[in-house]
Amino acid sequence: MPYLVKHPTSAPNLQKVLEMGSTLRPGDTIGILGGGQLGRMIAQAASKMGLKCHIYCPDENSPAFEVSAHNTVAAYSDEQALTSFARSVSVVTYEFENVPGETARILEQYVSVRPGPRALKISQDRLDEKTFLSEEAATQVAPFIKVDTQAELEAALMELGGQGVLKTRRFGYDGKGQIMIRTPEDVEGAVEKLGNQPSILEGIVPFAKEISVIVARGVDGTVKCYDPADNYHKNHILKTSSVPADIPEDTAQEAIQMATRIATALDYVGVMGVELFVIKNGETTELKVNEIAPRVHNSGHWTEDACPVSQFEQHVRAIAGWPLGSPERAHNVIMENLIGDDVNIWETSLLEPSAHLTLYGKAETREGRKMGHINRLSPKS
Ligand code: AMP
Repeated sequence: MPYLVKHPTSAPNLQKVLEMGSTLRPGDTIGILGGGQLGRMIAQAASKMGLKCHIYCPDENSPAFEVSAHNTVAAYSDEQALTSFARSVSVVTYEFENVPGETARILEQYVSVRPGPRALKISQDRLDEKTFLSEEAATQVAPFIKVDTQAELEAALMELGGQGVLKTRRFGYDGKGQIMIRTPEDVEGAVEKLGNQPSILEGIVPFAKEISVIVARGVDGTVKCYDPADNYHKNHILKTSSVPADIPEDTAQEAIQMATRIATALDYVGVMGVELFVIKNGETTELKVNEIAPRVHNSGHWTEDACPVSQFEQHVRAIAGWPLGSPERAHNVIMENLIGDDVNIWETSLLEPSAHLTLYGKAETREGRKMGHINRLSPKS
């Protein structure tokens, strides 16, 4: 008798989940590709639910290793190590979207990989991502044009009115792999500066602010979203996420609907971060999706201290085939990332009654490195 049948009232779709035969039981092991702070926090949430984790990461100093039952240090191309890893776990998930396609393909021969291959493929390529978002998920995005050469860039700029953001299709993050083009000087040699890689040119979005929605989708298709967060970046790295976002209620609902459409169109299983631009046109507010991250997301760390079920537990529930929990927010919260030397405030933050500190256990502090975060709570508004 499956363990979860004991709680049918809290799980209306449980029968459907069980029929799909993809449910983990306490004591089973989740495989996680990547051993950074996100993997660490997934493993901590899994442990709370009586599940074990097996982390696979090439870096022997991975912060996630110290909180998981089993670890493998090996390259993502090591077929033998991947095979024995896959055989030791009941499901595989990942904490970063650049998992090589071949790695996922090897693992899938033995075990389910959640979120599935389509989410990985789409989020790894900005052209595929933007095409999917606009055509299949019916969400608004900035105008975009495929660009492979300097000549194509110049033609694309003519179409977009002379300005745009040139972005490599693959491996861009935290503002890397992109050039803002506003003047003729910016155009010169731009494709070469990005390493002559396949790219896209996007129209510049005159956004008032950036927000994100953390959405979760279960094996049975149930979708739950957390409240949108206002995101503020410093040096292209997320510095704070504040909830509730300072946006009109109908804009918040629209953002949630967009995230729901995206997760559903991808037949997604797990937690995903959806980043959006908020544009103000006089009295009206418009949204455009910037990108999706098929994993737990830095802008969702506030959920850990402000919601009954954090994004990490929600991800574990989803990939385990368990019913999703409540994403309802109980507090207002500002999440502050501790980047590099910011971490030195850890001690004084302990004296703040409403501050909840999380440190990632990284031995070495480096500039730009995420070392921990603080959630500062206040009464819900
Ligand atoms: P991305 O790597 O796509 O997340 O972009 C990093 C940052 O660059 C975003 O958080 C925005 O602040 C800015 N950015 C990206 N795309 C655009 C755009 N089309 N228009 C204006 N700003 C952008």
